[in-house]
Amino acid sequence: RFITFEGGEGAGKSTQIAMLADALSLRGVPHVVTREPGGTPGAEALRNLLLNDAFDWSARTEALLFAAARADHVANLIRPALADGQWVLCDRFVDSSRAYQGGAGALGDEQVMTLHRIGSEGLLPDRTLLLELDADEAARRAIVRDGGGGDRIGARDAAYHARVGQRFRQMADAEPDRFVSVDAGGSADEVHARIIAALEPVLP
Ligand code: C5P
Repeated sequence: RFITFEGGEGAGKSTQIAMLADALSLRGVPHVVTREPGGTPGAEALRNLLLNDAFDWSARTEALLFAAARADHVANLIRPALADGQWVLCDRFVDSSRAYQGGAGALGDEQVMTLHRIGSEGLLPDRTLLLELDADEAARRAIVRDGGGGDRIGARDAAYHARVGQRFRQMADAEPDRFVSVDAGGSADEVHARIIAALEPVLP
């Protein structure tokens, strides 16, 4: 199964992926944990270009680079792992491009999905956990984590991040069979319990 985690900066995606991976290990479920942009050497190299302060990519260029990174990641890590029967837990995937470049960056969903079809044959996750957290709490957590500045994209203004959150919610409403909206407030253990409850129907 292919499970992705989505949400804005500071929602706790990496913590929750690690906790879910531990839970899968306890249940004897073979899995890999990966992230986007990145996951393979080539895609990690593209990640460094994407998040590098030295460049000011447009939404369009950004979308092309994210799609290229994803194509390498899907072909060389995600598809082989799924074919091998492993679960793939991925920190962000195409829905991030839909929310960031497509929504906040105003490129539109269709162009992002066209790139995704070209790059990755339109591969979609089986389940997407959308971690939702109010903006103030997310900012507070990001400050604890990295001083609040984040990377080149994370450092964009509050209006940009508000559009990201809005777009994520629209997608979750429009695709209720794939998206599970998870309240990311409270302790890590509380959020983890919500995630396990949400995935229980597909867990062995
Ligand atoms: O989740 P993580 O902090 O690793 O993401 C790296 C950065 O890339 C974040 O600022 C995120 O907003 C951005 N990103 C993006 N579009 C994507 C994937 C990630 O703008 N498709």
